[in-house]
Amino acid sequence: MTDDKTLQELVEQAEKVGNKRYHKLTQQDFENYRKFDYWRYINGDSECGTTTESQQWVRENSEYHCPVCGQRYRDRSGRSIDHKLPRAQYPWLSMDFRNLWVICHHCNQEKGERHWYEYERYMLAQHPNRYPDIVFARPRQLLKTLR
Ligand SMILES: [Zn+2]
Repeated sequence: MTDDKTLQELVEQAEKVGNKRYHKLTQQDFENYRKFDYWRYINGDSECGTTTESQQWVRENSEYHCPVCGQRYRDRSGRSIDHKLPRAQYPWLSMDFRNLWVICHHCNQEKGERHWYEYERYMLAQHPNRYPDIVFARPRQLLKTLR
C-alpha cells in the first residue's frame, strides 16, 4: 500500500517509474492525495465514504450493482471508491472525480494497482463477458491528458 508515503517518497517512486508528469506535482496534489484517505471509508470495510460529502457522492454515483462484475454490492462486501488510474501512479488525480468510480470490494481488490489499459487487457483475458462494460467506463478524457 502507498497510503503512508510522503511527497518525497512519491517523487522518488515516480522517478523509478519514469513518469515525466511527477516533477509537476504540487503541494495541492499532495494534499488531495492525503485528503482521499479521510474521505473514502465509513463503517470499517463494508461501505465507503468517511464524510457526509463522500457518502453522498457514493450514493449519487452507484446503483445496486457493481459496474464491473454486475453483482449486487451487498453480495460482494459492499461498495468501495476506486481510482480508475491508480493514485499511487497518478497522485494528482486522487481527488479528480473523473478518476473515481464506485465498484465492489472484490473487484477493487482484483483490479489492484493496474494501470487502466493493463486492467482492460486483464479483463479481456479473464472476464471477456465483462469487457464491454470496462471499455464503457474507460476514463477517456483523463487518458488524453496523459499523452
Ligand atoms: Zn464487482
